[in-house]
Amino acid sequence: MHSTIELLLQVQTLEQRLKELDGEITALPRRIAALESRLATHQQALERSRAAFVSHQAERKQIDRQIETLRARIEKSRSHSSEVKTNQEFKALKDEIAFAEGEISKQEERLLQMMTEGEALEATIAEAEAALANARKDLDSERKQLESQVEGWKQEKHRLLEQRKDLRQQIDEMILRRFDRVFRLRGQGLAVIEGDVCGSCRVRLRPQYLQDISNGQAGSFICESCSRILYFPEPDAVAADSSGK
Ligand SMILES: [Zn+2]
Repeated sequence: MHSTIELLLQVQTLEQRLKELDGEITALPRRIAALESRLATHQQALERSRAAFVSHQAERKQIDRQIETLRARIEKSRSHSSEVKTNQEFKALKDEIAFAEGEISKQEERLLQMMTEGEALEATIAEAEAALANARKDLDSERKQLESQVEGWKQEKHRLLEQRKDLRQQIDEMILRRFDRVFRLRGQGLAVIEGDVCGSCRVRLRPQYLQDISNGQAGSFICESCSRILYFPEPDAVAADSSGK
């Protein structure tokens, strides 16, 4: 194969790899954001369980206050008992005390129940904290892995850019411009001639044009349909191809 075509094929391979690398490198922030959104779910679960515990605590305090109020009321009623004059008044006082005592024991039962509930809520918080810590650890290691992968890609890109510069210096400027234009457009700058058609777009090439290509300067002829630079395959490849059929 003519060296210009060989060089162009190498440039094309480099360009394609560079495009892939750029895609991978620019996808990094999006990938990290996806990892972090997984963390956010755990964070929200933890916040919810903490909020549930706080409101549960507030309810407990309220019940404590209610019990205190009831006890104070009982105390007051008892201190009044010496002042009552009638049986009716005495009975009313006794009923009031009995009622308050009944309320207290109801609230105390509720408090006992709430203690069990509080323990369950604390356990939920501990679980959510552990899940979050685990997720954070996973995230950190995945992030590090991604970052070192991207670091590798950046180094590869740097290396390829150097190679590309080297290769391009060896190719005729006009041919390079032609190649660049169609590569940008189609992701490929070259097309191999298969028999009498363009191997990329399958358009038939005129016999005279085929003749011109084989006699002319490699890299100077483009497919009139798809604009890719045309080249003949290596004789070896043709032989292998036809013997395989
Ligand atoms: Zn073509």
